[in-house]
Amino acid sequence: MTDDRRRTTDNSLPCEATLAKQGRQNSQNAVQVYSALRGTTERRSRQEKINMPIKTKSIRRALADLIRRVWEENIRLKASGLVTMTWGNVSGIDRRRGIVVIKPSGMDYAALRPDDMVLTDLEGRRLEPASRLEPARLPSTDLPTHLVLYRAFAEIGGVVHTHSTYATAFAQACRSLPCLGTTHADYCYGAVPVTEVMRPPAIREQYEANTGRMIVRKTRQLRLQPMACPFILVANHGPFAWGATPAAAVENAIVLEAISKMALLTFLLDSPRRSLRRSLGGRRKGISQVLLDKHYLRKHGPSAYYGQAKHNPSK
Ligand SMILES: [Zn+2]
Repeated sequence: MTDDRRRTTDNSLPCEATLAKQGRQNSQNAVQVYSALRGTTERRSRQEKINMPIKTKSIRRALADLIRRVWEENIRLKASGLVTMTWGNVSGIDRRRGIVVIKPSGMDYAALRPDDMVLTDLEGRRLEPASRLEPARLPSTDLPTHLVLYRAFAEIGGVVHTHSTYATAFAQACRSLPCLGTTHADYCYGAVPVTEVMRPPAIREQYEANTGRMIVRKTRQLRLQPMACPFILVANHGPFAWGATPAAAVENAIVLEAISKMALLTFLLDSPRRSLRRSLGGRRKGISQVLLDKHYLRKHGPSAYYGQAKHNPSK
């Protein structure tokens, strides 16, 4: 068995033009849906403008299930212990409408309510607040990173970013995470990559969007299928994870932290004749291809047999 599952083919990898077109189409969908729900034209009367927040509630009602799920997953992420202070965020996307739901920036999780979730289109244009009486919440500052990932990876429905300790330690060391055992192989078909170190011009301008672009670039360089390696380490920064849903993305973020901790402990326990520096330098190559195939493919793909039912292949 080769690692074709982990790698994309030219046919399955959309080109930049296709992705840009998809992004524009989704944005147009968002604007059309929003405009339809508002029931307004370009030239609205003052009274219509006053009524707009009520219409805005319609779009929140239409997306109520996604909004609640994104809120719940943000709460679950905090409860998982992966988030210190407010260093984490979860988003989800309604692909049909082209609308992204994301945690507001810097809000205390204990005070977070579904109405605080921020709605934008795929270009980051914010939709209206839930109520005219409430101030508009600002989206997470990482929104542009999430948007780049949604535009590039058509199959994902949720994105998570944290600064979880062990995964962030590998990211700060600018080291990829080799597949050292079957826990890792159950979720990721090979090593977890680390991005290139970001150069100053990319940091000064559009930093968050450039973070997303670096993730996409590394994924394409390695010809990875996003769902076969549902997380990445951003050099000097921390991990991003994704999944088919916000819940799956959070699960993957939790898995990444667990396998990062296991990997670091494995390196520490490695042959006492090897220094830690040598171990981390890549002497440990990881599990065999046959063991990687066995564990990954028994949970994913057409021959999967792990778990109780076909409808939830991630379990
Ligand atoms: Zn961050």
